[in-house]
Amino acid sequence: MVDLKGKTALITGASRGIGEATARVLANCGANVVLTARSEADIRRIADDIGSTALAIACDVADYAQVRRATLQAAKHFGGLDILVNNAGLIDPIARIDASDPAAWGSVVDVNVKGVYHGMHAAYPYLKRSGGVIINISSGAATGALEGWSHYCATKAAVLSLTRCGHKEWAEEGVRVVGLSPGTVATDMQKAIKASGVNPVSELDWSAHISPEWVGRAIAWLTTEEARPYDGEDFALRSDEARRLVGLID
Ligand code: NDP
Repeated sequence: MVDLKGKTALITGASRGIGEATARVLANCGANVVLTARSEADIRRIADDIGSTALAIACDVADYAQVRRATLQAAKHFGGLDILVNNAGLIDPIARIDASDPAAWGSVVDVNVKGVYHGMHAAYPYLKRSGGVIINISSGAATGALEGWSHYCATKAAVLSLTRCGHKEWAEEGVRVVGLSPGTVATDMQKAIKASGVNPVSELDWSAHISPEWVGRAIAWLTTEEARPYDGEDFALRSDEARRLVGLID
């Protein structure tokens, strides 16, 4: 197991799915964890369950002032920040470009792209001090085109670009930036995808999806020196080779 004793991690979108699982895995690795999301009751419940090494802070990543306040509060509470997991993200509303609503399309940009940028911007001063790491949750959609997912493909491509730019600007200062493309994961997001009936991802059998806990374990691994070759790029968890590297399979 990765040893994260003495480290503090802030996870966005920690009220369910991958974010919740990541908070639990990182806490099991010994880290202090800060859970953020809009659903305050859910992050409080999960933080209470984890115990005194967890803190819940309600935060909408689309609003920079809220992200800045949450980051400040987290660093103050635990005496610094070492890991930022930019996980919060939306898939809805799924629609072809011609049928999409411009305002709704833009609101996905606010969360999936601006939310990641907000996290990177707010956390940078603390991570520079600690020599910390940012993990941006990406997707295979960052480099592929899928019908009905123009908002998702375009925003995840932008997240990959932010990972590359952050790495270019900050690597020499000792701040690592790495992306994670987890493959398909058994969460509420996949339920929404299945219900949409749009494109081949919605046709996948539920058994094709990996558990959110595996993604949390991959995120813990990405904080280690062993993962450094992937800095500035997306680490893809789809292959057996990658899963073996992380220690998920033999
Ligand atoms: P879920 O829909 O299960 O969870 C999404 C999380 O994001 C929730 O905690 C939600 O919390 C949070 N969130 C949404 N909008 C905001 C906002 N404005 N501010 C703060 N938090 C927000 O999704 P997953 O766990 O499946 O996905 C997590 C990440 O992984 C996403 O970035 C997704 O794109 C990515 N991903 C998922 C895959 C999958 O197959 N599931 C595959 C590849 C990538 P709340 O509503 O309480 O704010």
